[in-house]
Amino acid sequence: NKQVILKEYVSGLPKESDLQVTTGSIKLKIPEGCNGILVKNLYLSCDPYIRTRMKNLQLKGAHVDSFQPGSPISGYGVAKVLESEHPNFKKGDLIWGITDWEEYSLITEPETLFKIQDKDMPLSYYTGILGMPGVTAYAGFFEICSPKKGEYVFVSAASGAVGQLVGQFAKLSGCYVVGSAGSKEKVDLLKNKFGFDEAFNYKEEQDLNAALQRYFPEGIDIYFENVGGKMLDAVLLNMRIRGRIAVCGMISQYNLDQPEGVYYLANIILKRIRMEGFLVFDYYHLYPKYLEMVLPKIREGKIVYVEDKAEGLESGPAALTGLFVGRNVGKQVVVVADE
Ligand code: NDP
Repeated sequence: NKQVILKEYVSGLPKESDLQVTTGSIKLKIPEGCNGILVKNLYLSCDPYIRTRMKNLQLKGAHVDSFQPGSPISGYGVAKVLESEHPNFKKGDLIWGITDWEEYSLITEPETLFKIQDKDMPLSYYTGILGMPGVTAYAGFFEICSPKKGEYVFVSAASGAVGQLVGQFAKLSGCYVVGSAGSKEKVDLLKNKFGFDEAFNYKEEQDLNAALQRYFPEGIDIYFENVGGKMLDAVLLNMRIRGRIAVCGMISQYNLDQPEGVYYLANIILKRIRMEGFLVFDYYHLYPKYLEMVLPKIREGKIVYVEDKAEGLESGPAALTGLFVGRNVGKQVVVVADE
């Protein structure tokens, strides 16, 4: 049973060498008295929050805890049930949810897993558009941002797992949407594949405030925040009265020991801005409603999804750490095995 192990707690930019692929043994049998399931992992999802668990966390009131050095890391994945002692699952079922980064896993509390019903979709989509990032984009945009037709929307990290969906939801809602991303290839994708009205490469802008003024001469109604730091400051300067900011993530801050300051928060008062952080875990009750909306749109080609697939568990460390230097183009997935 190949596994991806965390070697030591990480500080700074995570490196491939912070993780190690080892081969351990596993009994392909559920232990006596355990009502869990044994699964074969097919796809693993590279998500920025995994970085948070790679450090020695002492966060009060947070949902997450640290990984144990020497043990496999875990995250969302798609897997096939090989054996089940749990009444809700049977051999052959396909599931998505939290699993370890390894070939085969024993999941002792399968209650939190989702059973995959719609099998005409690519299974890897259940790590992205049909999984956690999909619910994140849906809840963050529709529940937190309350979009109205004609509003001006800005999305950062716009070509990624979450951002590419937010942009498409904004277009379907009749909004004007601009995205930022870190390369020409990504900017082209935003404009030509996902239908953003405009897009720019934030790495080429000397002055983010000036860039936003250029794309939003009348200001921003909705900001879907994925990056934090300097971008957030520039956005605060460009928000319109009664604008909304959904704080989904702040990837530019995850590897810093000392977070950057945000200077223009007082705009929240003057412009009566509503800024709200959220975690996808609080919104999984919306999953059936979300599937009802998104599945027909995927089938009709009205929503598209770009994935970046790394082949084999061995490629896991590079794929995961690549998120923090923008190596992924679209949703980063690790393909562990074929069905
Ligand atoms: P992505 O697929 O967008 O991958 C991460 C991307 O972030 C990279 O490709 C890179 O793109 C960009 N990036 C990396 N470092 C920086 C930096 N220093 N400054 C600016 N951009 C950077 O990830 P996801 O779509 O999965 O996640 C997007 C955000 O949503 C993250 O902040 C994540 O933590 C958050 N999130 C929050 C959830 C919640 O429940 N609140 C749930 C899921 C995700 P580029 O080339 O454009 O720089």
